[in-house]
Amino acid sequence: MSSDRLYYQNAYTTRFEASVVERLRDDKQTAVILNQTYFYPTSGGQPYDIGTLNNIPVCNVTIREKDAAVLHWLDIADLWQDEVSGHINWARRFDHMQQHTGQHILSQAFIQVAKAETVGFHLSDNTLTIDLHTSKLSPKQVEDAEYLANQIIWQNRPIHIRNVSSVQAKKLPLRKLPPMHEGKLRLIEIEQFDLTACGGTHVQNTGEVGVIKIVKLERQNNQLRVSFACGQRALHDYRLKNSIVNQLSAELTTGIDEIVPSVQRAKEENKDARRRLKKQQGQLLFFEAKSLIEQAKTIGKTAVVTRVFNPDEIDPGQLRVLGSRLTQNDQVIALLGLAGKKSQLLFCRSKDAPGEMNQLIKPALNILGSAAGGGSAIMAQGGGPGTDRARVQQAIDKAERLLIGQIR
Ligand SMILES: [Zn+2]
Repeated sequence: MSSDRLYYQNAYTTRFEASVVERLRDDKQTAVILNQTYFYPTSGGQPYDIGTLNNIPVCNVTIREKDAAVLHWLDIADLWQDEVSGHINWARRFDHMQQHTGQHILSQAFIQVAKAETVGFHLSDNTLTIDLHTSKLSPKQVEDAEYLANQIIWQNRPIHIRNVSSVQAKKLPLRKLPPMHEGKLRLIEIEQFDLTACGGTHVQNTGEVGVIKIVKLERQNNQLRVSFACGQRALHDYRLKNSIVNQLSAELTTGIDEIVPSVQRAKEENKDARRRLKKQQGQLLFFEAKSLIEQAKTIGKTAVVTRVFNPDEIDPGQLRVLGSRLTQNDQVIALLGLAGKKSQLLFCRSKDAPGEMNQLIKPALNILGSAAGGGSAIMAQGGGPGTDRARVQQAIDKAERLLIGQIR
């Protein structure tokens, strides 16, 4: 048995009496169907109301498909009473009324400004979007639509609810005709501005929407998704952004107008500093390579460089640069390691030096507890789990012993 949906006539009533006409139960929840209700069930892109029945929280409101009955879901095993007092959470209801009415206004504004029809609508706790059947709008068109929508709000136009037959509806200039054409249609009319079929909850005068602010545009195939905020949500959005802007202004010790140029300058400076740092690191590695070769052991004609670095001395990228610097010289073999959160081994040699680096890397990596590595006779590398300097030194020592066996 379906219930009378009283919110169709009046969206402002928050307290009502009703009788339970049917109960449904599962393990944890009970759903009740009432002879009449002001609770809005999730439908038409608008989420359900919350509130209470006999002081028991209503946690969800849905429509039963077979007969369109409104199911009030309660987080209890049963609701024994047959007579109930309903209470709708007004803050949530009014938020939905503001956002939904704002959507009607903005959808019509986009038609008048850019002939852009609304083909989708989504409202949830933290999103409010319409999808426009257009792939491109100029910034001016977007601004014009937003401005027109706000003018309609400030003119405080009355909003009427009309019920007409589907035959009558076809003769009216409706913005949107629902797919179901049987029986009566509920029309929402914003006086001399917009007429559309809708089953949602709306305010009585456009002024209650307060303000509409478009916050983001995203192109999706041939459609444009417009995110916006109305009334209270627009105020929250403004508060948040105002607070961010004020914090940025304080952090950058500059006026609001100067934030963007100031961030752009800081980005440029940072880029320059990185460039200089990279250059100096390159020079440093040049001297490091020179000093390592001077201190290297000599086996036959070959200088064997062994060195383990801490992560604050060098990063994996610089380790590779150092390896290639070292082996640009004649007759150099370099066995390099990096300790820290991730250990790293890099073995390489000059083209004219002896030794098979790929045969050294696996036994050395085994000491680090890793098998992830490989390479060629000239260059081999691999990484292991985080480990300290002493352990990496053991791996290098192992490779050095094997190397001596290879080249003697
Ligand atoms: Zn509506």
